[in-house]
Amino acid sequence: MPQSFVILDRDGVINQDSDSYIKSVDEWIPIPGSIEAIARLSQAGYKVVVITNQSGLARGYFDEITLANMHSYMCSLVENAGGNIDAVFYCPHAPGDNCLCRKPLPGMLNQIEEEFNVSVKNAFFVGDSEKDIDAGLAKQCRPILVRTGKGASTEKQLNLQKKNLIKIVNDLNDAVDLILM
Ligand SMILES: [Mg+2]
Ligand SMILES: [Zn+2]
Repeated sequence: MPQSFVILDRDGVINQDSDSYIKSVDEWIPIPGSIEAIARLSQAGYKVVVITNQSGLARGYFDEITLANMHSYMCSLVENAGGNIDAVFYCPHAPGDNCLCRKPLPGMLNQIEEEFNVSVKNAFFVGDSEKDIDAGLAKQCRPILVRTGKGASTEKQLNLQKKNLIKIVNDLNDAVDLILM
């Protein structure tokens, strides 16, 4: 059932992004409407999986425990809204580490396939950066670019060919409207 999963980037999609990284639970601030939007996906029967590059770990800006606390907080907000985040995968590496999980590489999408024994082909993948789009296209997902976070500037930089392969909407709430249409 290829459409039963929706894949989400975290920073700039679910929560406000920052050029100085999200380093604590206090800095993890949801984008208005995003939590409720995720809950709507759950209620419509989708599994929701978050995949996020967190090079701030490799850079020493925060540790794994702090990241786990951020994700507990995120998941509890969604649960309080009546939804569920089924899994969170993150890449802890820096760009120069040559890992296989840092987006735009599709390693975390492969992890979803292994963990849930599914194909992510045709799954919706909502992101705000070209790295998200490229990872999604590599695995034949259906990328949706949101204009929150880095999304507005990503939209300006995208070439027409790539633009034609994706959908572009204002925010996660609008992305969920599109998915549930
Ligand atoms: Mg992002
Ligand atoms: Zn990695």
